[in-house]
Amino acid sequence: MRRAVCPGSFDPVTKGHIDIFERASAMFDEIIISVFHNPGKDNATFSMDERVEMLREATAHIPNVRVTAFSGLLNDFCRKEEAFFIVRGLRAFTDFEYEFQRALLLKKIDEQLETVFIMTNAKYSFVSSSGVRELATFGGKLSDLVPECVEKRVKEHTYRKFEERTETEK
Ligand code: ADP
Repeated sequence: MRRAVCPGSFDPVTKGHIDIFERASAMFDEIIISVFHNPGKDNATFSMDERVEMLREATAHIPNVRVTAFSGLLNDFCRKEEAFFIVRGLRAFTDFEYEFQRALLLKKIDEQLETVFIMTNAKYSFVSSSGVRELATFGGKLSDLVPECVEKRVKEHTYRKFEERTETEK
């Protein structure tokens, strides 16, 4: 079985990510989407559990997908799941530099692991989780960037934070 892991922070999952999952699902027998803690992105907005829940809802239409979370090294996770492919999405040149280093490091750790890159869909090339979070803070329109179920969660979260802030300012 050709099994691939799609690792990421997914804080929150966007339409750009979903597009990558859909295309990867046609290339592999099974796709495991796994939420990882990225040490370079501390202070996540959503908890691991919330991110997993949003991913499950947003990918319910893709049959060969499983969603999970893992706190540890990606190569250990891949071994555990018997997955030898890692799928990452590529947007701009800045993504490339980061992904290039990451893929080479993984290869150094485990030679059996292959990183497969899928080029972003042009219509989602500007979409990022950080952009979604920023827009949400200022009440911007999110429907082009995230699935409906995620939009609802992001808005609820932003509203909750706003309430908490005004509560402490009283
Ligand atoms: P990480 O913290 O591991 O980079 P992200 O959730 O930011 O996690 O991204 C997960 C993967 O999805 C990365 O490979 C990233 O380049 C890719 N990605 C993010 N947004 C898009 C997009 N709009 N189009 C294609 N790929 C994307």
